[in-house]
Amino acid sequence: MTPRPRPLVDPVNQFFWQAGKAGQLQILRCQACGTWLHPPRPICAKCLSEEVAPETVSGTGTVYSVTVNHQPWVPGLKVPYVIARVSLDGVDDVLLTTNIVGERALESRIGDAVHVTFEEQDGLWFPLFTHSR
Ligand SMILES: [Zn+2]
Repeated sequence: MTPRPRPLVDPVNQFFWQAGKAGQLQILRCQACGTWLHPPRPICAKCLSEEVAPETVSGTGTVYSVTVNHQPWVPGLKVPYVIARVSLDGVDDVLLTTNIVGERALESRIGDAVHVTFEEQDGLWFPLFTHSR
């Protein structure tokens, strides 16, 4: 397995890195106005409510933008790898920055249908995406 830089985990975003343990992708949502909040933050960016809670989403989505990285920026992380922003089904106005993995990762194009898959490292579950068809 490739070592991933460990994200800064705090009480607000911890759910995001733990939800994959149960095979779920969760995104924070304002319970007052319904706005999705990612990256997670303690207060709604739209209505300033503090009533925010993680909700489980489908885990399917569409590649919004994609690039293939050939530079070994992170020691030990194998290149090339694919960095993408994924638009999540049913989650308005959120683009998840992630990696596309799997056999067809290097052929990734904008508009490709993808779904979440998790890679566990040191008790964190990284949500990655792979091609759906
Ligand atoms: Zn709100």
